[in-house]
Amino acid sequence: MHRHLFKALFLVTVTMAYTLPALRGQVDEATRQLAHDIFKQLVEINTTDSVGSTTVAAEAMAKRLRDAGFPAGDVVVLGPNPRKDNMVARLHGTGAHPPVLLIGHLDVVEARRSDWTTDPFQFIEKDGYFYGRGTQDMKSDDAIWVTEFIRLKREGYIPDRDLILALTADEEGGKFNGVDWLVHNQRNLIDAEFVLNSDGGGVDTDDGKPVIVSMDASEKLYADYQLTVTNPGGHSSLPVPDNAIYHLAGALVRLESYEFPVELNDVTRAYFERMASVESGQEAADMRAVVKSPPDQAAVARLSQDPLQNATLRTTCVATRLDAGLANNALPETARAIVNCRILPGHTREEIRQDLIGIFADPKVEVRYVDDSGRVLDSAPDAQALPPVKLRPDVMTALEKVAGEMWPGTPVVPTMATGASDGVYTNAAGMPTFGISGVAIDMDDIRAHGRDERLRVESFYQGVDFYYRYLKALTSGN
Ligand SMILES: [Zn+2]
Repeated sequence: MHRHLFKALFLVTVTMAYTLPALRGQVDEATRQLAHDIFKQLVEINTTDSVGSTTVAAEAMAKRLRDAGFPAGDVVVLGPNPRKDNMVARLHGTGAHPPVLLIGHLDVVEARRSDWTTDPFQFIEKDGYFYGRGTQDMKSDDAIWVTEFIRLKREGYIPDRDLILALTADEEGGKFNGVDWLVHNQRNLIDAEFVLNSDGGGVDTDDGKPVIVSMDASEKLYADYQLTVTNPGGHSSLPVPDNAIYHLAGALVRLESYEFPVELNDVTRAYFERMASVESGQEAADMRAVVKSPPDQAAVARLSQDPLQNATLRTTCVATRLDAGLANNALPETARAIVNCRILPGHTREEIRQDLIGIFADPKVEVRYVDDSGRVLDSAPDAQALPPVKLRPDVMTALEKVAGEMWPGTPVVPTMATGASDGVYTNAAGMPTFGISGVAIDMDDIRAHGRDERLRVESFYQGVDFYYRYLKALTSGN
């Protein structure tokens, strides 16, 4: 889950600005019980990479859908490994529009009983919270979707497009990423006009009060580069020119002072426009000035001092590892560094490799690409540069409508994730992906991947209320 990477940054400035109503929820008792039971069942099925199984969780969810009346042919469990199955279910619509795909990952990161106050694989309710691994990331959202599918089926609701739900393996790690596998092996099963990913977006609250409703509508591209300088070496008592370490250090210093050009897209422009209404003073003024064309340079400079705003404005590259020399008394024969880049949509990894070569401006520094499996390649992939995602009016209008009903006065803010989620696979496959969730998490209570992961009880039921309303607003043909 990547939804809460940026929250704390504006916590202080905004919380006093709004007088917001308490969170509202309207979910009937039977639905609450159903959602609760599914959530509990998912948390208590261990889906870690080490010893768990997404297959068990996928089968359990498939059974619930079949029991609720989904034909067996519309609910399938499949995957490349017996422990890493995915579930795909389809609720048929009128066919007025192409399908929408909903994705959520079933796997969770590891959790040790000894690190936790409670058993991470027991679903425990106490002090107004649900505790357990996956309560934030993201079995709550998985349970919400299964609940909505069951509700909509029982009601006989016919959306104006098919709703396809894919609950998948290995988002957090592991060799069998379910979304990647489905895109490449079962495209017909999951093919859609666009994708909703509830691993992103959400309601950011401060002590339960909503501050913004965020929607991840784009993500940066991840890339690692290896820098290498070699030299014949020799005795350190007789220094010679072209010391490998000096060459490498010089290149890294040039990188440190380099700034990639500012480039806004649909999503980041909307982000700064909306955030200007949440922030105040100079920061708000700078956000308005930066979306002008051309952007105001003084505003760019001030915003760039904030790591999050900087990462939203441009591609970033930073040195993360260094390794050089063999002995204290020998000239280094090899000096190496790793530079990690987060690339704006619309650019390829090879393009950035060429940029780095230009920035280092030293033919002694070789720049190679390191792929996901750690292989070092002479050039980087040219293909699959993610295009900037266009904001879809139907997705936004429905979100603004439902957010307005549930959290009146709270701005809806499109965000570009500076990390990466399973949306990287669906976006690359040409299916624009939007991170949307109605689950609210306090900005100072982000426990995804951490110990004693928990979610406010009422926040969960609000999320149940949200997606029921949202799917209807999006697909009722209005
Ligand atoms: Zn996640």
